Amino acid sequence: MLTKPETFTLLAHRLGSYRQDIIDWQREMVRRIAVGPDAGGPGEGEKAAYLAALLTGWGLKVENYPAPDDRVSGGARPNLVVTLPGRRREKVWVLSHLDVVPPGEETLWHSDPYALRVEDDRLYGRGVEDDHHGIVISLLAVRVFLDEGLVPERTIALALVADEETGSHKGLGYLVRRHPQLFAPEDFIIVPDAGNTDGTMIEVAEKSILWLKLTVEGRQGHASRPHLSRNTMRAAAHMIVAFEALRQEFPLENPLFQPPESTFEPTKKEANVPNINTIPGRDVFYLDCRVLPEYELDRVIGRVKELGEEVARRFEVSLTVEPVQALQAAPATSPEAPVVQALSRAIQEVYNREARPRGIGGGTVAAFFRQQGLPAAVWMTVNDTAHQPNEYCDISTLMDDARVLVHVILNAG
Ligand SMILES: [Zn+2]
Repeated sequence: MLTKPETFTLLAHRLGSYRQDIIDWQREMVRRIAVGPDAGGPGEGEKAAYLAALLTGWGLKVENYPAPDDRVSGGARPNLVVTLPGRRREKVWVLSHLDVVPPGEETLWHSDPYALRVEDDRLYGRGVEDDHHGIVISLLAVRVFLDEGLVPERTIALALVADEETGSHKGLGYLVRRHPQLFAPEDFIIVPDAGNTDGTMIEVAEKSILWLKLTVEGRQGHASRPHLSRNTMRAAAHMIVAFEALRQEFPLENPLFQPPESTFEPTKKEANVPNINTIPGRDVFYLDCRVLPEYELDRVIGRVKELGEEVARRFEVSLTVEPVQALQAAPATSPEAPVVQALSRAIQEVYNREARPRGIGGGTVAAFFRQQGLPAAVWMTVNDTAHQPNEYCDISTLMDDARVLVHVILNAG
């Protein structure tokens, strides 16, 4: 009977032997174009069918939870759940997404984005990192338990979902809404879909995103007779200065985030008058706010209106404030959550590096779990080539990240 560390050594060693499998899986996935219909593609059907056949062939149970969508052939978007039963019912989930973004400007690619190119350790093609990295490391984790004839302590569950790149309404959003019984708070949920280049970032929290459009209406006129006009550009400038107060009014800091505070940035400014000697009577500008999850976005919107209207009154102009996007962040996954702790230990073991739980300024698919009170950790080792031309991933990194997953699975209590 092997001890856990001995078993891990055995599995970690074996994971180094799957180079050809990794290339084969990547090649078959890359050539099945899984761009969603929102981005003008055929959907994930072909790629899901390939993976379902592969995994069924391994003797695994593959279930589909299709989300109706009459824009794709078959009328539904696939959401596969694949399980390898463990001794216990509690699961270690690995969630990755099937869909990819379009190649973008094709002339920037050095080879066909939909034909895998292999150069030593490096694989090129649309999707190889985002999110085949996640898919491949979860396949490896299952494969190595099967090949060693080992039963994991917890059940290994792979979720291969649609529609991550265009909102997740037909993907994880659909799964947690329509099939909430799949996931339990005591499960470990790992989402390999973002991270940093040395594998030490475990994403556990997000800021809320608030984009506001501010329209200032005054009176246009000749620049030589400003007393007859209401200059909206001057009023907008004073508003932007007034919004500096937001920083003090929402002062909380959270060291998980970089920067640790909420931010309120004036960004886009629409063109007003085309000539210099006309006083503008209409100005439109935007704020991009990234707000700590502790604050309600409605409160922020309310204060932007009050501060702006105070200035509007002074300059005798009017102000309309419209949200372009308002995404209230889900409560953070605790940095003390067992899944985060298990990942940290595994990263220490495999990479000999200290991982840190962190928050980010934008949204990830993990928010759907967190909104349901399910602790989810987003982690993988990236090359940061997602969505770019000549997207690539490294075989050795896939093997190492699979070792991290296997360490978590093996040691999950
Ligand atoms: Zn992704």
